[in-house]
Amino acid sequence: MSQSGNYTSPRRHLIAGNWKMNGILEEAQQFVAELAENPAPDHIEVALMPPFTLLHPLAEPLRQKGVQLGAQSVYHEPKGAFTGSICPVMLRDAGCHYVIVGHSERRDIMGEANELISKKLNAAWENGLEPILCVGEHLEERQDGETNSVLRQQLSVLEDAPEGAALTVAYEPVWAIGTGLTASPEQVTETHAFIHEELTRLGHDCRVLYGGSVKPENTAELMGCAGVEGALVGGASLQAESFSKIVQAAASVAAGA
Ligand code: PEP
Repeated sequence: MSQSGNYTSPRRHLIAGNWKMNGILEEAQQFVAELAENPAPDHIEVALMPPFTLLHPLAEPLRQKGVQLGAQSVYHEPKGAFTGSICPVMLRDAGCHYVIVGHSERRDIMGEANELISKKLNAAWENGLEPILCVGEHLEERQDGETNSVLRQQLSVLEDAPEGAALTVAYEPVWAIGTGLTASPEQVTETHAFIHEELTRLGHDCRVLYGGSVKPENTAELMGCAGVEGALVGGASLQAESFSKIVQAAASVAAGA
């Protein structure tokens, strides 16, 4: 597997916190106040994906602290009779720059598959949002040697993506999400190299984040793997203290990259 210098990227690394279905206003305000005590250095980008209900109230306080706002999902239709759904224009209106698409919880629990994921990506691009496309294999797939074919199939949604479309990819092995298990540095390096190769084949050159039980204690090791340009953080992003520690550890690694 090639691990050329191409994978040591000069791009600004991104640490993104995905709160999933957690957080009410008071907790979120407390979080932002605590986060501000440890501002991130300029060479690293920080983003937060709270639940929809917190997008509007957090937009301005986060903007003032240089933290980007993102949503955890989007529906592709522009408006109309889609009860419970949120469209890209609403996310833009709420101050979002990013939107997560293809998270394994949406694939596995809500049954979202490539056809819908493609529509969401296109709707995001048409409305000036940057999708963070999540890809990753289940444990049985890794054990059966199917990791690369699963990733290739998930990345195939990018085949018809517009040239130069704003994009970040997150490699999130499903077996490492919320389980406390993390991929080994060798697995991360090898898989990120494959994803970068696949992206190049598809005509995209973008950041690839790692996600899956990232914590303050393992950030430096994971962010030090070739081809890793940041992290998508779930559980450890819920506390400002642990999220800040991850940001600072990632910033130290990125400064030496
Ligand atoms: C995630 O949900 O994207 C994630 C990586 O979660 P956790 O960090 O909790 O494993």
